Amino acid sequence: TVDQDAPLRVENLEKRFGGIVAVDDTSFDVQRGTITGLIGPNGAGKSTTFNCITGALNPTGGEVYFQGEKVTGMRPEQIANRGMVRTFQIARALSEMTVLENLMLAPKAQSGETLWRSVMPGARSGVVEQEYEVRERVWETLEFFEIDHLAYEEAGNLSGGQQKLLEMSRAMMTEPEMLLLDEPMAGVNPTLEEKLLDRIHSLREDGYTFLLVEHDMDIIMENCERVLVMHQGKLLADGDPEDIRSNDQVIEAYLGE
Ligand code: ADP
Ligand code: MG
Repeated sequence: TVDQDAPLRVENLEKRFGGIVAVDDTSFDVQRGTITGLIGPNGAGKSTTFNCITGALNPTGGEVYFQGEKVTGMRPEQIANRGMVRTFQIARALSEMTVLENLMLAPKAQSGETLWRSVMPGARSGVVEQEYEVRERVWETLEFFEIDHLAYEEAGNLSGGQQKLLEMSRAMMTEPEMLLLDEPMAGVNPTLEEKLLDRIHSLREDGYTFLLVEHDMDIIMENCERVLVMHQGKLLADGDPEDIRSNDQVIEAYLGE
């Protein structure tokens, strides 16, 4: 059963593509301040679920609620405005522009006090943000993700891992409450992967909520307190990493790949 107080609730979600049922009557919730993993073999329906949650796709059935509000059918930017941001979209960093410019242009989705502001040093509330304040926040964000030394580099020249850090930085500039990451470690070298995971954990400690979609079971097992497993469009298992590791159905689903 789905927890009615959870920030993200997915209820009886269904997505059909013609005759293919990519997501088949799937329900789950994501608890506040957790790193929740969504895993499953290729074709399980993870990305489709992700796309239905973030508004990139319209589900053919079921509902998605964020902070108690039904967001099913909303456009991605409307959902982002409510504080649920995906990195995949923001990944499209403007490659001809510098890292600094990319952050300056990151959409400011919300006004007023938010979590990110309140944990950042020098945060202000209740004032219209001036350019110098944005600039200040940009630098704080670059420092937090340790890419401040790349500020004047063109985004297109960054390595895959550095681009992921830029992506996360841009997402944070929109002052979200919840971040959804679809395979954030893909193409990232081990050093930057560590850094990215370290930043995710640090943000989680500050109260941010993460839904991490990954094909790599090890990354999920080591970093998530709760794991949702999809298989053939359905939710196969839901539990802590220990439960999931020893779940025969999960093992079978992965072996069958
Ligand atoms: P995962 O991300 O877990 O690998 P997907 O959500 O990408 O899985 O895909 C789930 C199923 O839906 C697969 O069978 C895939 O081929 C199918 N599918 C995904 N997107 C489309 C689409 N746009 N049109 C038709 N079939 C699709
Ligand atoms: Mg996928």
